[in-house]
Amino acid sequence: MSSVHLIATGGTIAMAKDPAAGGAVLSLGGSDLASALRSLALPIVPALTSEEYGPLPSCQFTVDHLWGLRQRVVECLAQTRAHDSDGIQGIVITHGTDTLEETAYLLDLTVPSSTPIVVTGAMRVASDPGYDGYANLIAAVRVAASAEAENLGTLVVLNDEIHSARDVTKTHSQSLDTFQSPSWGPIGRVEAERVVFTRRVQRQVLECPSLEPGVLLVKLAVGMDAGILRLAVSNGARGVVIEAFGGGRVPPWWLDPIRQAVSSGVAVAITSRCAAGSLGDPYRYTGAYKDLVEAGCLIANGLNGQKARIKLMAALGASCDPVTVRLLFG
Ligand code: ASP
Repeated sequence: MSSVHLIATGGTIAMAKDPAAGGAVLSLGGSDLASALRSLALPIVPALTSEEYGPLPSCQFTVDHLWGLRQRVVECLAQTRAHDSDGIQGIVITHGTDTLEETAYLLDLTVPSSTPIVVTGAMRVASDPGYDGYANLIAAVRVAASAEAENLGTLVVLNDEIHSARDVTKTHSQSLDTFQSPSWGPIGRVEAERVVFTRRVQRQVLECPSLEPGVLLVKLAVGMDAGILRLAVSNGARGVVIEAFGGGRVPPWWLDPIRQAVSSGVAVAITSRCAAGSLGDPYRYTGAYKDLVEAGCLIANGLNGQKARIKLMAALGASCDPVTVRLLFG
């Protein structure tokens, strides 16, 4: 009999108020979440199995912890292939919302499986009357059990919306509809028992044996000094992602530090600090997009800064050779 497998990693979805602690703390494990779903008497999937990974609030994840979760997902999928008739139909990961998009994108980028992987979380703790955890979990399980979710990579399901891991981001610090795909919108919805996809997404899979942790993310702001980039290079960073202005522009005084970083072997990737839209511009003034391309920067089109960092960590984890890194980065 096939099943959906739940990996519980912590986060608000697993938290409830503890008066003694003076606030919400981790209190629901994977088996609690799974048995709550069963007792909600929803015959959503033939079976629901569960395990714990961590658990931690997602702002406390380290790169090793993140990679370990990726490895655990790969192991679960390998067991599925070994016992085909008894296999896992889909995987659901419950996760803190703060870094959920990074985990989802890492899985999307590095797990070459057709089995649906769905990441979900909650914005309200389990002791709150408006707790959104079970609704999100039920929707996530429905998507993971859906044949139509196969070959779509990793999906993020919250608030009845289905988002691709590549496009989705947490946009609001408090709101239930915080997860949005600002450039392209959701790829589907969960409507009661129906899972409806309105478009399919193409994903890139990058084979890598580990993540390179030495990658920094720098966001530009008006008039900002480039000292932070020089410092990153002198501290031994292997890669730096710059969230540049608009379609990919930096102040003129950033160009030389960028060229020096690239020529000293540091991979510099450009993304936009805008919430949506692609990279590229028509300008020929100093520091505009063409200068960054000529300086040898990698272009992280369609990825926000935190996901461009995941991709650069994966590409640098796969190779030390700048030409290969450029090819992998795409
Ligand atoms: N603090 C939480 C986390 O682990 C926030 C959440 O889950 O919504 O990311």
